[in-house]
Amino acid sequence: MNIKSYDYAIVGGGLAGISAIEGIREQDDKGSILVVGAEQSAPYDRPPLSKKLWSGRKKPEEIFLHDNEYYKKNKAELRQGVTVTGIDPQEKTIATDSGERIGYSRLLLATGGTPRRLNLPGGDMPDICYYRTIADYYSVRAKVSPGIKVIIVGGGFIGSELAAALNMNQAEVSMIFPEDYLVQRIFPADLGTALQEQYRQRGIRILHGDVPVSFEISRGKPLMQTKNGLQIQADLVIAGIGINPAMELAQKAGIKTSNGILVDKYLQTSLPGIYAAGDNTGFESVVFGKRMRIEHWDNAIAQGKTAGKNMAGGAVVFDYIPYFFSDLFEFGYEAAGETDSSAQTVSFWQKKYEKGVIYYLEQGIIKGVMLCNVWDKIEEARGLIRKQAKIKETELETALSY
Ligand SMILES: Cc1cc2nc3c(=O)[nH]c(=O)nc-3n(C[C@H](O)[C@H](O)[C@H](O)COP(=O)(O)OP(=O)(O)OC[C@H]3O[C@@H](n4cnc5c(N)ncnc54)[C@H](O)[C@@H]3O)c2cc1C
Repeated sequence: MNIKSYDYAIVGGGLAGISAIEGIREQDDKGSILVVGAEQSAPYDRPPLSKKLWSGRKKPEEIFLHDNEYYKKNKAELRQGVTVTGIDPQEKTIATDSGERIGYSRLLLATGGTPRRLNLPGGDMPDICYYRTIADYYSVRAKVSPGIKVIIVGGGFIGSELAAALNMNQAEVSMIFPEDYLVQRIFPADLGTALQEQYRQRGIRILHGDVPVSFEISRGKPLMQTKNGLQIQADLVIAGIGINPAMELAQKAGIKTSNGILVDKYLQTSLPGIYAAGDNTGFESVVFGKRMRIEHWDNAIAQGKTAGKNMAGGAVVFDYIPYFFSDLFEFGYEAAGETDSSAQTVSFWQKKYEKGVIYYLEQGIIKGVMLCNVWDKIEEARGLIRKQAKIKETELETALSY
């Protein structure tokens, strides 16, 4: 059978997949590129789905990654609403749910992640939105009006951003999560507790140290039963309890996976010619000397570009230190490196819990830096982390100027 072949095939039309186009074109201005994406929508940016689309700082039509002209100019063909169902690494082909078989010379798996689901009675009911896509945004947006009661399950990034966003849109929000305070994985206890108090003062009900045990429909609306014995009814339930890296395709093709699709420092998987980038990728961090998987915007862009370059003949080591950002009401921050609240943290506040810098240390070495309402300092923070040298606590206060 005569099948159509591309020099570069990219599975996944998210940030990592689309960023690979730029990387490929830096090395090769002619090779044919195909991007196959399961979502119907043209490729878009996810962060505004829980922030700027709700605050009115962006309109849906402003969140697309590129206009059509960009793909035309870069000779990249997009297939939207098509899912890749299999890879044959021997034949170098992919199969799609539209019944096609497509050849490739180099393949990128940029399949991202799928939302974790609540494994409990009622966890599958259609009234629970596992928030990830622009389609989820439209579906929630259509239901939100002043006074609507919303339960948000999860106190991490997505849960806390959406709680703020919906509160600003006059929804009555209840949050439930097992940790003691918001975004506990990242925030030191004093900051997390202070932010949580601000959430309360804005009228958000916070059920921390609790989890849902079941959902049912009662009088036409979802009713949540919690482990601590509470019953809460709402018009809408949104869950943001993390994602699982999408690695089934890789596994079926015999590519090594663990927490993510495993790649070397060039982002090549265990099968030569097949690369991975973004939320689905377990990479070897050159800076930290260990395997990591990062579910953030900047990482998806940087890995996508690097994978693209290397697919097109480059030999670029991925040694980048990605940063991430979030906005919780007026508390905006950017953070680079490893920002795990279980590390030793040292904070310096110009204005307590509003403007300052937090250092995350391991044996006197800076592993991560969080910049709270401090802007344009990410490069300096990266420089401090990249040194991986011991720093005295007394030197920390002046390590960054702001
Ligand atoms: C609501 C929200 C807010 C966020 N806010 C922030 C933020 O403030 N800061 C930050 O740093 N990060 C944020 N993130 C995370 C950031 O958006 C992700 O890290 C980034 O989108 C990852 O890009 P990706 O390309 O790896 O994966 P994805 O964006 O998940 O893209 C993968 C794409 O591949 C498609 N796909 C999967 N399998 C197949 C297949 N078999 N065939 C075809 N297509 C397939 C999927 O449908 C998807 O479109 C946010 C995420 C969400 C959901």
